[in-house]
Amino acid sequence: MASYSEDALLPLSALQHFAYCPRQFALIHLEQTWEENLYTAEGQLLHQRVNSGEAETRGALHVARSLRLVSRQLGLTGMADLVEFHRIENGGAELPGRSGFWQPFPVEYKRGHSKADDWDRLQLCAQAICLEEMLDTEVPEGAIFYGKPRRREPVPFDAILRKDTHSLAEQMHQRWESRRTPPPEPGPKCNHCSLFNRCLPDTPSASEYLHRMLDP
Ligand code: SF4
Repeated sequence: MASYSEDALLPLSALQHFAYCPRQFALIHLEQTWEENLYTAEGQLLHQRVNSGEAETRGALHVARSLRLVSRQLGLTGMADLVEFHRIENGGAELPGRSGFWQPFPVEYKRGHSKADDWDRLQLCAQAICLEEMLDTEVPEGAIFYGKPRRREPVPFDAILRKDTHSLAEQMHQRWESRRTPPPEPGPKCNHCSLFNRCLPDTPSASEYLHRMLDP
């Protein structure tokens, strides 16, 4: 199993970019290209709302926000929007300043709706692997809260999702080491890509693009 040094750690959020499109990952993280659009602005607003809350404990539930995460196996570090800790009788993790045992349950907030592709689930699974490594416990499930409709979708971290997460993180590190941006792979996902104008500046016209952004 890989074990990355502190200097080799990449942002956890980059995994979702890489899963969505390796070129998008390279444009953002290798070339430092970024462009605000309706989607990124909505996403930032949603995360600000979630992250602004304080940690709280209600009975058998402790909620931590903006929790710093790291995994040496995956070579990733970042912030979890929200991690619930459910008090359990046995197993789970011990938390500083709290008695008993607590089962971690990561929750990621996303604008928009649930997707058929695993982009969001892979990012959440990476958070779970970070928590397991940091707290020396198992994290079998988490959830993604989607803005449309405002609903939680449970995400079991099964063997396939875990294998895909490890494989994706490894590919992302290889891409990072290569320092090379791959060519565009135009497809339906490009219609929702924040870097559409930078990646494919000649297609389609600006008015068509605006229409797509407002009425996806
Ligand atoms: S426009 Fe398409 S090919 Fe270009 S970075 Fe975005 S998703 Fe990738």
